[in-house]
Amino acid sequence: MNSSLVEIDGSEGEGGGQILRSALALSMLTQRPFKLYNIRAKRAKPGLQPQHLMCVRAAATICGAYYKGGTVGSSVLYFEPGPVQAGDYRFAIGTAGSTALVLQTIYLPLALKGGTVSEILITGGTHTAHAPCYHFLAITWASYMARLGLHVDLTLIRPGFYPRGGGEIRAVIHPCQRLRGLSLLTSPLLTTASGISASAGLPESVAQRQARRLSSRLKAAGVESHISIEQWTAANPGTMAAIIFRQTPVPTLFFGLGERGKPAELVADEAVDQALAFRRSQAPVDPYSADQLLLPLAMSDDASEYRVAEITRHTTTNMETVRKFVDRTIILRIDDDKSGQVSLPARI
Ligand code: ATP
Repeated sequence: MNSSLVEIDGSEGEGGGQILRSALALSMLTQRPFKLYNIRAKRAKPGLQPQHLMCVRAAATICGAYYKGGTVGSSVLYFEPGPVQAGDYRFAIGTAGSTALVLQTIYLPLALKGGTVSEILITGGTHTAHAPCYHFLAITWASYMARLGLHVDLTLIRPGFYPRGGGEIRAVIHPCQRLRGLSLLTSPLLTTASGISASAGLPESVAQRQARRLSSRLKAAGVESHISIEQWTAANPGTMAAIIFRQTPVPTLFFGLGERGKPAELVADEAVDQALAFRRSQAPVDPYSADQLLLPLAMSDDASEYRVAEITRHTTTNMETVRKFVDRTIILRIDDDKSGQVSLPARI
């Protein structure tokens, strides 16, 4: 087994927090130490922020790692993993930092190396910008994982929005003996959708306006929809408008989030714009799942191939991070319209 140090320049490609999270997961999976420098160099506030530090601490907790550079603002991290231990863990981010991104840092090592079931409780943000929201995790991501043979049961204990967070999720991660590959090259024309329009701490009319906009715009595009309206309780006000396509091979969710001063219609438009761009592409895999699938598929010995609505820099960057830790061929085809295909030949 190759146990040499992996050196990573965190300013490459997307230059954000995903490089750190993938490096932590890959380090635990391969038992290779890494040194990451120029952490999040392409972000306005570079270096480790509280939500990234939580990922470092969570990773170190589940494998008893030794690390250096784990402070707020640090631009260099050295991480030396130990053996992964399944168990019951609790992680409190303390801000509205994404609970999903903490989970996505540790689920794969726990499932593949933990040996038994783990139960993880994470408090922080459950519906925050630039990260998977809880509903995306539960509806889209967990379904992809189940297709690969990796089972994660998710519960939303409490939603948490920016700025206070205070949300909580529970994830029960089952041990996985063998990850399967994936072949997803086609998707039918999407003619129906369901949706969720939710709000917390705001008049009911806000969620109703989001719902009306979701269904009227979908109808104009030729998609019949049923939107359910939900009222949530959270530490501070917030809203979500989400669209779910279930004709796709894996249920695929797109969402928009409310902000102070942002009209309800605009929140719905954010979800609809992404959903309709995905529908036009006729690809089975959405741009976010595309980057999130790379790590588990690289850990499977099977061949995989999937067509993606849009190849993002998150996907190309994640591919580079995977290649630093594991010797695995990943072939990327990017078409003129930015859609594309990811292929991983079987490991011999
Ligand atoms: P930084 O703070 O450095 O910007 P970050 O830690 O917030 O970084 P990114 O590096 O931007 O994270 O990675 C964000 C992750 O969240 C990616 O895996 C991306 O696919 C996922 N993601 C972002 N938006 C969505 C969305 N709307 N739906 C599902 N997943 C999403």
